[in-house]
This record gives sequence, C-alpha cells and structure tokens, in this order.
Amino acid sequence: MPKPLSDRIKTLPSSQTLAMAAKARELKEQGKDIISLSLGEPDFNTPDYIKEAAVEAINENYNSYTPVNGYKDLRKAISKKFKRDNNLTYSIDQIVVSTGAKQSIANTAMVLLNPGDEVILPAPYWVSYSAIVTLCEAKYVEIPTTIESDFKITPQQLEAAITPKTKMIFFNSPNNPSGTVYSEEEFRALAKVLEKHPNIYILSDEIYELINYGKPSFSFAAIDSMYDRTITINGVAKAFAMTGWRVGYIGAPEWIAKACTKMQGQITSGTNCIAQRATITALNAPPSKIKFMVDEFKIRRDLILKLLSKIKGLKTNVPQGAFYVLPDVSYFFGKTIKGKTIQNASDISMLLLEEVNVATVTGEAFGAPTCIRISYSASQDDIIKAVKRITEVLT
Ligand code: GLU
Repeated sequence: MPKPLSDRIKTLPSSQTLAMAAKARELKEQGKDIISLSLGEPDFNTPDYIKEAAVEAINENYNSYTPVNGYKDLRKAISKKFKRDNNLTYSIDQIVVSTGAKQSIANTAMVLLNPGDEVILPAPYWVSYSAIVTLCEAKYVEIPTTIESDFKITPQQLEAAITPKTKMIFFNSPNNPSGTVYSEEEFRALAKVLEKHPNIYILSDEIYELINYGKPSFSFAAIDSMYDRTITINGVAKAFAMTGWRVGYIGAPEWIAKACTKMQGQITSGTNCIAQRATITALNAPPSKIKFMVDEFKIRRDLILKLLSKIKGLKTNVPQGAFYVLPDVSYFFGKTIKGKTIQNASDISMLLLEEVNVATVTGEAFGAPTCIRISYSASQDDIIKAVKRITEVLT
C-alpha cells in the first residue's frame, strides 16, 4: 500500500530524547531492570500547593477554551515573574503561553524564519532546535565547542559564523545537554558582536533558569541593546516538576508575540485550562519554594561526577546547571567491548543499554558527536547503580 507522506515528515529526524525514553519504557515493560538516565525530567512529584490549585480549578469549572495567548491573570503572573526573577519588563501583551516551551520555540521559529535563512546553534544544543529550524526550511549553522572551554562559544566564533543570511541565534543557558551556564560578562561580550548585526534575532531558552548551582542565571534580554530583538523562552516543566502539564511561555517584542498568537491560533489554540491555573500558583510563589529540588540535584551532580571520574578515558566538564552531564567517550572509539567494535557515541549508548540496561542519549543528536548525555534527574540509588554498571562495561 502506498504511504505518500510529505517530504517534510520523511526527512524529519525523530526526537532522540523521546525515542530513547520510549525504548527504555518498552524494555521496562518487558520486565528488564532498566535504569533510565535518558529523559530530562525531574523525578519529583509536582509540589502539593500547585496540585491543589489544579484541583480547585477543576471544581471551579475551568473547562472552556482559553484565550489563545493564555489567561490574562496568568500572563500577569508571568509578567511579575519576569520582573522579580529576571529584571525584565514585559507587558501582558508581550507574553504568549503555549503547550510547553517546545511549542514556544516552534512558534517563534515559524514566525521569524523564511526558507534559506540561517540560524546559529552553539553546539551542543537541544535535539529539537535543529529539527525545528529544518522544519522551517531554514539552515542551522553549528558553532563547535570543546569540553576544555566548558562548551562555551567565544565572541570571535560568533562573529565568524555570521553571514548575510543569518536571521537568528539560539542561546540556552543553563544548557541542555552540557549544563553550561554563561555568566553576565560572557553574554555581554557576545551581545557586543550582535550589536554590529541589527538584523539578527536572539532566542534565549531559559527553561533551566532555576536549576542552577552558581550565580543566578542571566537573561539575555536584560542587555538593553538586545531587548528589542530577543525572545525569552521559559516554562514550568523543569523547575516545578511539571513536565506533563505542558506549559511554556515567551516574553518578546509585541509584534512577535502577536505573530506567535496567530500561529498558535491555527494549530493548537490556548493551552490546557487546568494547567494554566496551576501555573499561576507556581509562578506567584517565590522560587525558594522549589529550592529543595535544586539542592537535591546539586548533590546528585556531585555524586555522579565523582563516580564518573573513576572511569578511565571518560572526560567531563563540571555542569553548573540543568541536570545533565555530557561525558566525552571518544577514548573508546575503535576499541572492542563485549565483542562489539565501538565506532561512535551511538555505539556506546547502545552498548550501555543492551549490555547493562542503562539508558542514555547519544551526543550525536545534540551536535556533540563524541559525547553521550546522562540525565541525573534520578534517585541517588539509581545513579550509584547505573554508574556501577557503566563502570563494569567500560573498564
Ligand atoms: N527536554 C527534555 C530532554 O531533553 C525532554 C525531552 C524532550 O522534549 O526532548 O530530555
């Protein structure tokens, strides 16, 4: 039977994070003792005060379509949050609530990119950035980085990557998958380069903002000269343990926010009503309410780095935020382990899954072809068990 799918979907790669998570889930269902360190998802429950707000919303009969750009009182709460946590002034007309930060990013790319435009992606980058850019028929241009420089790009590298076709650059700090956090000074140095190129727009993905072990995260739009061309992306999934609730949002110049609302109005409409009500409660509370999770992630980061450091040949940076570590595994390329010749990071990731039931994600999907991504949003027991298994197979 013919299956005349569009070229668009035929050439679209599957999300490697979701594919690995699905595979781990399937193997678990078959009874295998899988430890899943593949998905970037807090293992905490959504805090009670947020769940109670959702229950209340159901009982108060919040069940109708919501405004496409989000409830006004939610956008007010987001506007307050931007001011309180990021020193950013966004009116409620500059804010659009979407079904997850992933949709916020997709909306932004769809309303700004034309076929043939170039988008700069400092590598490593989150898997869906490249796919979304490709869906917009634009071209992504990677800036490579190394573990030695903590996976950071330099202003010189940024300048060299810019061409007359450059329309956007995506920043993500704290970074998925490297955990890298740019300082204010580093961002200001990059902004100096962008000041010379007024036609470039900046997507600043700040979804891991609160999962940060050092100085508070810096928002790119807080640089005055960048405010008018930066789209700030955030959401509640990671810091509030609300991944499945699917609430993301943008703060942006009003004309971009309007365009995103128009786009969303034709694709999904307003975000789920109950999730929006719960998000108001999540954002109105001070970030100190969720600090216990961040403190625990830091303990886990230190634990996993200590355990991984004992594996000969594995190199890591010290992630300052998010809940991932991205070890360089190139030392093992060309070696034969358990009868399998390792050629690349995917081979290592598959080896760990098949031989010792530990799910990770290959760095290839993130523009980091010599690395694998390990998510430490798992219990300390699981982290200890998993690294023990990894050590067994790699040493
Ligand atoms: N952002 C998370 C991750 O990187 C969730 C999965 C996804 O949407 O990619 O694991």
